[in-house]
Amino acid sequence: MQKTDLYLLKYGEIALKGLNRPKFEQKLIDNVNSALAPLGKFSVKKAQSTIYVEALDEDIDGIETVERLKKVFGIVNICPATRCEKGMDSIKETAARCVLDMDYEGKSFKVETKREDKRFPLKSPEISREVGGAVLRAVNKAGGNIKVDVHDPDILVQVEIRDSAYIVADIISGAGGMPVGSGGRAALLLSGGIDSPVAGWMIAKRGVTLDAVYFHSPPYTSERAKDKVVDLAKILSSYTRGIRLYSVPFTDIQLDIIDNCPKNMLTIIMRRIMMRIAEKIAVKNGDMALVTGESIGQVASQTMEALYCTDAAAGMPVFRPCIGMDKEEITAISKKIGAYETSIQPYEDCCTIFVPKHPKTKPRLDEITEAEKSLTDIEAMIEKAIEDAEIINIK
Ligand code: ATP
Ligand code: MG
Repeated sequence: MQKTDLYLLKYGEIALKGLNRPKFEQKLIDNVNSALAPLGKFSVKKAQSTIYVEALDEDIDGIETVERLKKVFGIVNICPATRCEKGMDSIKETAARCVLDMDYEGKSFKVETKREDKRFPLKSPEISREVGGAVLRAVNKAGGNIKVDVHDPDILVQVEIRDSAYIVADIISGAGGMPVGSGGRAALLLSGGIDSPVAGWMIAKRGVTLDAVYFHSPPYTSERAKDKVVDLAKILSSYTRGIRLYSVPFTDIQLDIIDNCPKNMLTIIMRRIMMRIAEKIAVKNGDMALVTGESIGQVASQTMEALYCTDAAAGMPVFRPCIGMDKEEITAISKKIGAYETSIQPYEDCCTIFVPKHPKTKPRLDEITEAEKSLTDIEAMIEKAIEDAEIINIK
């Protein structure tokens, strides 16, 4: 990577936001500030559709800075940059030094110039040509080997002429999406599995702030199963700038379902009650949707009929971003976001401890609601579960 303490952040969709654009940009700046604050002092400023991030403290770790920026939604590209004087000598020397800092041996390169400052005496193609020559000479002098390829270069050296000149020789992909906090709030039903953290990540990527709701059934589910969910919430929170996790005791409700309802309807009824509890918690927090990791046909409780019955229990929109994805596709995202190793730890989930041998794969809503009438005062049990929920604020 180019050695520097300056980064130009490029954003995509935000630039299309018309009159609301400053609000999105400010949200992005706030999120960048909060992501980098633990590393030291930074200056974060905006100019010409670019956010300039500059490390102000001496010993800030550049690799960690980039790792953190890669988790800020709204950033399309992270460009480590070197600032220099707006004169050709300085630009050529700086560009050559940036390439020499990189792993260039045997590779190809190309220079591209963006001239935001139209008063600069040379035109873009001339600048690129001169800088290209300077890079070739510098590498030759250092005894190295590099060649020009204008069609498919390994290294793209960008010269940006703005208030100063900036040299960018390395473009790192950002997370894309929209800044968290610009897209409302939703409550994620977070289990310890692979799917729900991915679902939460996908919704947060669109700028949505998340609360999370986890159901556990001690002593049937262990403290370690809960710790695993807290760990997953922490991983998510590195993208969402914090998460409020509700850990809801579910044992009494589950036992009541087992005692009073037909065995083959157990899972669906349980899932409908999860929805009702999550919705009440969502309303308390100003969340306007629920999010789950369901995917059509993955298990008996995710057939079209089962999803119909589960959905009918919720009075607000339920977003299921994994709905059309195969397990492999979900797993690929889980690995990419760093959740997979935690998700596959083998701890039990309340959904899996009392699984009926023959769950109904085609439940009918009228039969399910009829069966639910046999539950002991479910409204009171729901209220009690919410009252007894533990709230864990993850920063
Ligand atoms: P996951 O991999 O996310 O655990 P899954 O494939 O195991 O999902 P289910 O157990 O049927 O599927 O759960 C479907 C969805 O219901 C989950 O993605 C999650 O959103 C929600 N869910 C399941 N169990 C819990 C739980 N204990 N607490 C909160 N939400 C849950
Ligand atoms: Mg699960």
